[in-house]
Amino acid sequence: SASRSAVIIIGAGVSGVSAAKVLAENGISDLLILEASDRIGGRIRKESFGGVSVELGAGWIAGVGGKASNPVWEIAAKFGLRTCFSDYSNARYNIYDQSGKIFPSGIAADSYNKAVDSAIQRLRDLESNCIEDVPGGTESPLTPKTPIELAIDFILHDFEMAEVEPISTYVDFGEREFLVADERGYEYLLYKMAEDFLFTSEGKILDNRLKLNKVVRELQHSRNGVTVKTEDGCIYEANYVILSASIGVLQSDLIYFRPPLPRWKTEAIEKCDVTVYTKIFLKFPYKFWPCGPDKEFFIYAHERRGYYTFWQHMENAYPGSNILVVTLTNGESKRVETQSDDETLKEAMGVLRDMFGPEIPTATDILVPRWWNNRFQRGSYSNYPIISDNQVINDIKAPVGRVFFTGEHTSERFNGYVHGGYLAGIDTSKALLEEMRKDENKSFLREPLL
Ligand code: FAD
Repeated sequence: SASRSAVIIIGAGVSGVSAAKVLAENGISDLLILEASDRIGGRIRKESFGGVSVELGAGWIAGVGGKASNPVWEIAAKFGLRTCFSDYSNARYNIYDQSGKIFPSGIAADSYNKAVDSAIQRLRDLESNCIEDVPGGTESPLTPKTPIELAIDFILHDFEMAEVEPISTYVDFGEREFLVADERGYEYLLYKMAEDFLFTSEGKILDNRLKLNKVVRELQHSRNGVTVKTEDGCIYEANYVILSASIGVLQSDLIYFRPPLPRWKTEAIEKCDVTVYTKIFLKFPYKFWPCGPDKEFFIYAHERRGYYTFWQHMENAYPGSNILVVTLTNGESKRVETQSDDETLKEAMGVLRDMFGPEIPTATDILVPRWWNNRFQRGSYSNYPIISDNQVINDIKAPVGRVFFTGEHTSERFNGYVHGGYLAGIDTSKALLEEMRKDENKSFLREPLL
């Protein structure tokens, strides 16, 4: 028979954990966390690779050094997470062509300025409704065509939109970014947060209110409560549910709602785009790339936009690790996810030999994360169309009866970031607490059942 909890939280990523923590701090200890995978952390995830710990998901604490303090930066400081300053704005001066020549900085700067102008013009046109927001945009004299223009267009749109329009993360918290370089991983912060309200021993969570490998497939909700069914046939009941599954999961058919979600909700969910962002790690027997200051990032210019464009070496984070990271996004990410890692290694080596010559050694190991094909993620993070009104995000965030929504995609100012997920969890729990206070039947505030 199903036991009844005050609140069931679905998903143990940063938003689910911060939501649970706020509830616990407010006396709601009768909660249950159902997580589909075998670990907490979600899109914050480390893996051992080439002798060090690499971050497959979030890798930076973005937005540091500004007027207000980034809460994730504060938590990182509190728990002594090791980070290093990282600045990819220099990448534009390390652009290689297909014959391994670095573009002179003047040419790179000119192309860069032209791309920024073009992007700003496009934004203005969008704002005045002159054009439609279609990927690639309309042809104009400023449309990128040459390999260097395509490379810069890619960097600008997939990494540095802050150059074009203000991004709340940098406006509020500052423009500095720090790379997490800690063997315990970015996820260490989540364990430390969980320690405050879940029973742990020797770094492990041993609290039966956290249930791993519980894939929620159905949410039956009514005025009286919510019944949650998991893939393994278990049934859980709660007064309320907080759902933190990603926007990609909400767009998929993983979770079935009974009754179905209202149309305003499903339409809003469809309007949010999902970015796929893939960091491919390559381990080498020795270094063959330049390592001085300002050389952490470099760019490969190819006639295909986004083809192994953006590179980073890990010597600042882990000196002597001999690891390179190349970032792919969207179409290229999806393409690479479907092919074998050997195939991907061949492509990446071809690109590196273009840049550094035929004699460089082949990587001895490769790691290719697959965020798109992961049915508990379906992408890397939410990406609201540049011109979208707040109504979309408000609808995505709004509760439906007793089902509350959280996750980075519900953060109006910081969607797409770890601090967005963290703050969204707090917001959603506060809204739920408010609702619970209004609820006349306060039976769930009695002694915890567990
Ligand atoms: P998630 O972490 O996705 O948590 C949701 C949880 O729900 C998951 O654990 C999932 O397994 C679980 N779940 C899903 N469906 C079900 C179900 N049916 N039943 C039960 N459980 C379910 N942010 C930054 O700030 N800096 C960065 O540098 C950065 N880089 C990134 C790079 C990559 C490759 C990726 C993928 C993300 C990056 N982000 C970055 C974004 C950041 O990781 C996310 O915004 C944040 O971690 C999202 O947290 P969340 O709690 O909203 O979602």
